[in-house]
Amino acid sequence: MKHMIVAGNWKMHTTAAEAAALAAEVVTLVGKQGGTAPTADVVICPPFTSLDAVVAVTADTSVHVGAQDCHHEHHGAFTGDVSASMIRAVGCSHVIVGHSERRRYHHETDTLIASKVLAALAEGLVPIVCVGETLDEREANITTQVITTQLETILQIVGAERMQQCIVAYEPVWAIGTGRAATAEQAQEVHATIAALLAKAGVHVPILYGGSVTAENAATLFAGADVYGALVGGASLKADAFAAIVAAAGAQMQ
Ligand code: PEP
Repeated sequence: MKHMIVAGNWKMHTTAAEAAALAAEVVTLVGKQGGTAPTADVVICPPFTSLDAVVAVTADTSVHVGAQDCHHEHHGAFTGDVSASMIRAVGCSHVIVGHSERRRYHHETDTLIASKVLAALAEGLVPIVCVGETLDEREANITTQVITTQLETILQIVGAERMQQCIVAYEPVWAIGTGRAATAEQAQEVHATIAALLAKAGVHVPILYGGSVTAENAATLFAGADVYGALVGGASLKADAFAAIVAAAGAQMQ
């Protein structure tokens, strides 16, 4: 049986009050699922300013809370940044690192991402480590090469033992926020590549797919043998759509 995980990336959406209301809806809808059937692990990742409010709403529920990024240092003169220890202290269990929007708009490299993974793990957070190719790279037929370079660089710095405590998210950049999800075959093909690459180092971790996942396409994507859930952007801002994706993931566990 596959153990499935669905994480919602709320990006730069929701004030603290809006986030608390959305989290409450998610808790209600996800909490109603399951009964005796197993349900997927659920993580919601609001903006930093909403973490406190969302942690309060989800306390004593099965819904976990994550941040969308962390700094690689514990503390210091880094204006505007937030450390893994601060994220942990507010009550989070997870943190997204290496999202393509951080790579693109903040010029994050695999080396920096690896140091963020180490900082997160040192604080007991589960890093959701994102990798993925751009459209140009896919069209140039270098997807495998790009993913391999990203993962091998991170793996080399983090080490297999620590990597085992992570979640990996395959997020083709061309599929993020475009409404053009990878096909189930495209996703599974890359997931299998990632799983094989990690297995060579003795690492076996959940690999989530991210990129325009919806309530409609989730079940098809989740059928891939190496697809262990999703990192969801847009659809995670609507509680009913997000809950439907969580239900599709849960169906894989029965
Ligand atoms: C994301 O932000 O990680 C993402 C996958 O976004 P979307 O689902 O909107 O494509």
